[in-house]
Amino acid sequence: MERMKRTATCGALHAEHEGQSVVLNGWVHRKRDHGGVRFFNLRDRYGITQVVLEEPSEQLVDAFDRLRMEFCVAVTGTVRRRPAGMVNPEMPTGEVELVATELEILSPAVTLPFTVDERSDAREELRLKHRYLDLRSHRMQRNIRLRHDVSYRVREYLHSQDFLEIETPTMIKSTPEGARDFLVPSRLHHGCFYAMPQSPQLYKQILMIAGFDRYFQLAHCFRDEDARGDRQPEHTQIDLEMSFASKEDVFEVTEGMLAHVFSHVLGVSLETPFPRLSFHEAMERYGSDRPDLRFDLELVSMDDAVAGAGFRVFDETIESGGVIKGLRVPGGADASRKRISDLEETAKTYGAKGLAWTKVTDGGLEGGIGKFLAQRDSAVREQLAAEPGDLLLFVADAWRTACTALGAVRTRLGPELDLVDPDEFAFAWVTDFPLFSYNEEEQRWEAEHHMFSMPQERFLDTLETDPGSVLGDLYDLVGNGLELASGSIRIHDPELQSRIFRIVGFDWEEAERRFGFLLEALRYGAPPHGGIAPGLDRLVALMAGESTIRDVIAFPKTTQATSPMDGSPSPVAPAQLAELGLRVVSEEKEERERTGESRHIP
Ligand code: ASP
Repeated sequence: MERMKRTATCGALHAEHEGQSVVLNGWVHRKRDHGGVRFFNLRDRYGITQVVLEEPSEQLVDAFDRLRMEFCVAVTGTVRRRPAGMVNPEMPTGEVELVATELEILSPAVTLPFTVDERSDAREELRLKHRYLDLRSHRMQRNIRLRHDVSYRVREYLHSQDFLEIETPTMIKSTPEGARDFLVPSRLHHGCFYAMPQSPQLYKQILMIAGFDRYFQLAHCFRDEDARGDRQPEHTQIDLEMSFASKEDVFEVTEGMLAHVFSHVLGVSLETPFPRLSFHEAMERYGSDRPDLRFDLELVSMDDAVAGAGFRVFDETIESGGVIKGLRVPGGADASRKRISDLEETAKTYGAKGLAWTKVTDGGLEGGIGKFLAQRDSAVREQLAAEPGDLLLFVADAWRTACTALGAVRTRLGPELDLVDPDEFAFAWVTDFPLFSYNEEEQRWEAEHHMFSMPQERFLDTLETDPGSVLGDLYDLVGNGLELASGSIRIHDPELQSRIFRIVGFDWEEAERRFGFLLEALRYGAPPHGGIAPGLDRLVALMAGESTIRDVIAFPKTTQATSPMDGSPSPVAPAQLAELGLRVVSEEKEERERTGESRHIP
């Protein structure tokens, strides 16, 4: 290798290098043999250079003939300006080519399962099985590079703000944060398990108690959830925590960090501070707790405008404590029945019983429920600032359902009506979330975010008597309609923490058993503290313009939580199980069925 070791990269050669003799190492990207005119493109991480054979030796031709796509090769040659007319302005190295004098195959490649860089039609399963090939593509190289740049700038910024990067363990005590734990059985303590952290939540809080004041970590978080949306069993958070800090301090650091990252990585300057909305306002105006603020289209409260119009559905909804939300679709009056029923399907998916509509003409409201609103025609139009040619949509339901369902229609309409600038980034803080939500299935209160978040002070007296109305010092960072981070000010008083445990259904003993170490630590002068954890994968996907986080993770799992490349998860050897004191029940059952043996398995 020493002799054929590269002296330049495939992205480095330009006109000023003319006449230089260089060695390039890389992969065969394209190969062309036009009746004796022999070319190939050589690719590495840095770019692509065209290599040409001219009056080649027999040995050179022989090596060239053996080349196939993705062979790893070394080429020695002389840089030459391309003849006028042959310059390729699309290629950064397009002014030059390398006239090969020597060609060595470092490593051949078998027939490819898909073409690198033209993988659009390759199934994702196949891409993941041969991830090393997929990662060679320009797009994936760019995405992984971008991820590196983001991580680097995050570290740079947080370091400049006195944050310390501290690692926390990957094997911890099971301390649920709302999802299911991945468990690691202990060989030394049969029957006992470590859990993999859903996040380093308690450790970062304990680091605050330990006096570290400002902590961060690019932390792997493990959540054993069913395939849903764009989730991964393992994802990365920019986890941070601050002592003696208010939520304003957390906002300022997060905004500063994102501004630093966007400016250095994308050359985009973000306007800070980001706008803020309470959860209630976000739901009222956008029907979502992660609104896409790149476009307006606000939901409007229609109760006063339609009350008493004589439309039974609306009147009954208002009488039973529900609300009527309206949405104006500018210029939407030409929508067909089919289009409207398509939008209605979206509203129904989010729980609405239906989607009422009417159109605005010069003569007033026409079609749909227009005739029922005749008496309140101008009030309705005024409330929605409607113009002739608009389509008006309504959902009548309980507040949360009405907002969410019409909000889902709004989210759809943004891109469909071309209201979204794909190059824009619109961040906002959503604050003042309810601390608890009621789990109807299990008939109990649970934490909306996690159990360690601080209730707002004014609710401290009514925590137990009216959990549903308690707002927390919780906040989310949203960007372009995505939830990018969640965080909160934490409880630092062990008594208050115990009260929260009781409300979510842990009696004293259970709380001690599970979280005793936290309660204990809180007794030793715990500082007030708070933090946040932006999702690194989601952030990078947003910056890369990718719609799935799998495209910004080097080795992601499939939506079924498998890894086609290494075949995980996979069974392990019986000896490994025995060492751990474990038996796989389903396998034993199969074995019993096969042998007809009946043995009780406890
Ligand atoms: N640990 C939390 C989470 O993973 C984030 C936080 O509250 O900082 O959602």
